[in-house]
Amino acid sequence: MKLLLIASECAPFIKTGGLADVIGAIPKALSEEGVEGRVLLPLYPALQQIAASGVTVAEFSDLFGGAARLVAVTAEGLDLLLLDAPHLYDRPGSIYLGRDGQDWHDNPTRFAALSHIGARIGVNGIDGWSPDIVHAHDWQAGLVPVYMRQMTNSPPPCVMTIHNIAFQGVFGADMMGSLGLDPAGFTPEGFEYYGRISFLKAGIAYSQKITTVSPTYARELMLPEFGMGLEGLLQARKSDLLGILNGIDLEVWNPQTDPVLEQTFTSRTLKRKHQNRTALERRFDLQSDPDAPLFCVISRLTEQKGLDLLLEVMPQMVERGARLALLGSGNPDLENAYKQAARQYQGRVGVVIGYDETLSHQMQAGADAILIPSRFEPCGLTQLYGLRYGTLPVVARTGGLADTVIDANDAALQSKCATGVQFAPVTAAALAQAIDRTCDLFAETDTWSAMMRNAMKHPVGWDQSAKQYLALFNGLMTA
Ligand code: ADP
Repeated sequence: MKLLLIASECAPFIKTGGLADVIGAIPKALSEEGVEGRVLLPLYPALQQIAASGVTVAEFSDLFGGAARLVAVTAEGLDLLLLDAPHLYDRPGSIYLGRDGQDWHDNPTRFAALSHIGARIGVNGIDGWSPDIVHAHDWQAGLVPVYMRQMTNSPPPCVMTIHNIAFQGVFGADMMGSLGLDPAGFTPEGFEYYGRISFLKAGIAYSQKITTVSPTYARELMLPEFGMGLEGLLQARKSDLLGILNGIDLEVWNPQTDPVLEQTFTSRTLKRKHQNRTALERRFDLQSDPDAPLFCVISRLTEQKGLDLLLEVMPQMVERGARLALLGSGNPDLENAYKQAARQYQGRVGVVIGYDETLSHQMQAGADAILIPSRFEPCGLTQLYGLRYGTLPVVARTGGLADTVIDANDAALQSKCATGVQFAPVTAAALAQAIDRTCDLFAETDTWSAMMRNAMKHPVGWDQSAKQYLALFNGLMTA
C-alpha cells in the first residue's frame, strides 16, 4: 500500500508540538506493516540542508504567485517530498507566526499551496509513484480533498486526521478566487463556515474518513463543549469518525539508552533514576527533599493546557513540600507569571522559558511526576513519555489523557494496575486535591515503586494504532 501524508510539520526536522512527533512516527510504524509512506512538507529554512541532498522530481512555474519545485529525499528513515516555494516558506522565525507574534498574513495561501500540491500528487502521482490513500493532517492540509475533487471525479480515498480542533484555519470568503476554490463548494455542506472559508471543515466534509488521536477525544468532539463549532458536522459524520490513539517513538524515548540522561535506567534498576533527579534539581536550582515529589511540566503555555490553574494552587503545593520544574513557552502573561513564581518560591519552583528537546528528556527522566491539567487534550504525548520513564502522570480526565493513564483509585491500587492520578473537573480545587493525593502516594514508597513499574510496562508504542490505521486504509481501498 502506498500512503501520502500531508502535514505542516514532521519530527525530527521541524516541530512545534505533538503533530510533528506523530507525522514522523506514522510512516515508520506503518512500514512494519508493509506500507510505503511518503510525507509532503513545506521546505522551511530548517529543512534546507536536508533538501540539498535530494532530487527535484517536479517543477511548477507558478504556484500561488511564484515558482516552486518538489524535492524528494530520504532522511532519518523517512521518505520526504519537500515543497520548495521560497515565496511561501523561505522566511525566518516560526513556521506559523511572524516577528510580531501574529499569524503570517499569507497563511491561507501558504497552506492552500501545500494542499494543492498534495492533491496533485494524490490525483496524478509523482515520479512514477501514486498513492493509494491520501492522509491529510489538520487544517493546513484541509483543502487536499477539495482540490482533488475539483481535479477529478475519482480521486484516491482521503483520510483527514484532526490533531487539535482548536486550530481550524478560517479565512475570509473573498479569498475563494485566489485560492482556486470552486464557489460551488461554498455551502454549509462544503467548506463554508458562517460566511467564511474553513480549511478544517473542508477536510472533514470532503474526506471519506475522519480520525482523531484518541477514542475519548473522538467522542468529545461531537459535544458542544469540545467541538468548537464543528460538533454538528462531526455528529453527522459519526459513522466515519474514529479515534486512534497516538503512540510514541520507543527508540527516541527509551530510558535504557537515552544518550542525554545523567543515568540510564529500566524498571528493574529504578534506583538509578534518582541520579537524574539530582541532576534536575541542580539544573533548576531546587533544594532537594527526598520526602516530597518533584513535579515537572513540559508544555506550550496556553489556555488549553490549564497551567493558570497550577499557578493558583502553587502555594498549597509548595506548602506540602513538593517541588516543581517547568519548561515551557507561549503566552507572555503565563511566561511572566511563572518567572515570578520561580522568584517567589526560590529553591522550590524552577522555571525555564523556552523550547529545549534535550532538557525535556532529562526532565522526564528526573522528575517523579508530570503534571498535565489540560482543559482539553486530543491525545497528549508528554504523559506517554512520563509513563515510559516511570514519571507518573497527574492528568485532567479528558481526551487522550483519560485513555492512557490509570487512576490510582482503591480498585486500581488493589488490582495493581494504577499508573498515575486523574482528576475532574478541571478546576484549581480538583488539581490541588490531585497534587495532594500524589504526595500521599509518593510517601508510600512501595505503592509508588509499584506504580512506576506499572507505568513503565504500559504499552505506549505504535503497534496497536498502526494496525488500526492499516485496517482503516485497507477498508477504504476495498470499498
Ligand atoms: P501539543 O501538541 O498540544 O503541544 P502534546 O503533548 O501532544 O501537546 O505534544 C507536545 C510535544 O512538544 C511533546 O513532544 C513535548 O515534549 C514537546 N514540548 C512541548 N513544550 C516543549 C518545550 N518547551 N521544550 C521541549 N519540548 C516541548
